[in-house]
Amino acid sequence: MLGEFEIIARYFTRPAKSAGLGVGDDCALVASPPGLTLAITTDMLLEGRHFLPGADPRQLGHKTLAVNLSDLAAMGADPRWFTLAIALPEVDETWLENFSAGMFALADAHRIELIGGDTTRGPLTMSVTAIGTLPPGYALRRDGASVGDEIWISGVTGDAALALAHAQGRILLPAGAAALCRARLDTPEPRIGLGRKLRGIASAAIDVSDGLAADLGHILERSGVGAEVELDAVPRSEALRAAADPSLAMACVLSGGDDYELCFTAPPEQRSAVLAAGVAAGVSVTSIGRIVEGAALTLLDASGAIVPIARAGFDHFRPPQ
Ligand code: ADP
Ligand code: MG
Repeated sequence: MLGEFEIIARYFTRPAKSAGLGVGDDCALVASPPGLTLAITTDMLLEGRHFLPGADPRQLGHKTLAVNLSDLAAMGADPRWFTLAIALPEVDETWLENFSAGMFALADAHRIELIGGDTTRGPLTMSVTAIGTLPPGYALRRDGASVGDEIWISGVTGDAALALAHAQGRILLPAGAAALCRARLDTPEPRIGLGRKLRGIASAAIDVSDGLAADLGHILERSGVGAEVELDAVPRSEALRAAADPSLAMACVLSGGDDYELCFTAPPEQRSAVLAAGVAAGVSVTSIGRIVEGAALTLLDASGAIVPIARAGFDHFRPPQ
């Protein structure tokens, strides 16, 4: 059976590229990029909490890195380096092979380099720390939204939660829709290109990991503003529009986690720049409402009447109401 250092050498070591020194020493060494700000983020995935036992290892490798790249995207940062801390219950070479292939495929697509980590035995857990760079002053922070700004969302939200509802037997999707939604859940695409294009255009941004309403709520709280969102304007996938249970579908769109789309705000005069950023990044962007005074998130129906918010987003320490 492979030992710790053989696992690292075989599955987690590649020749250093932009790092001065990568895997293999007590620390990695990278040159501080002159004139740039570092953006640093950590996200952890636990078996049984963030993914089901027996999850496909290639997809897990993808998702472990994707959720961290999504945080860099939400800040508008360019991905540079990452570290991986992993606990494995046993040495399963096929599993390691696939996990590492899924992770490196996404890493190569976004030109981010694995420069170190830690490997130990324990309940299956992965924790990545990702480092990106930005020109100083250009980070897309949560606290930058102002009254009058438009609220935007990339892509569509709710598909990942719909896949989960299908997997748990709360809804039955046709096979094609189930597969599409499942891919959104298992292999989310971090919106790195869009985040980068939104630098200097968006006033605030967040990635939607806990549900659109909850994550937009974080922007509102940090910015000290309220929001009005037009429900009919919130984009939905084919699968969601066709879903048999419309109230469940709406709950997925507003409160479903794991979409990893970007929710952001921008002054109305930036509208054409936002649309151009979406085109350049190859992802749809939709205006769903506006920032208003106050602190509340108000949902409006087509007639302008207020719709009560059913359920907040996911919170690890609070059971769903
Ligand atoms: P130390 O005991 O000095 O902390 P380790 O024995 O934990 O070093 O790790 C040896 C080298 O392998 C270090 O460079 C570390 O960053 C790297 N490493 C360990 N686990 C991983 C991993 N899962 N992915 C990438 N690099 C790793
Ligand atoms: Mg050490």
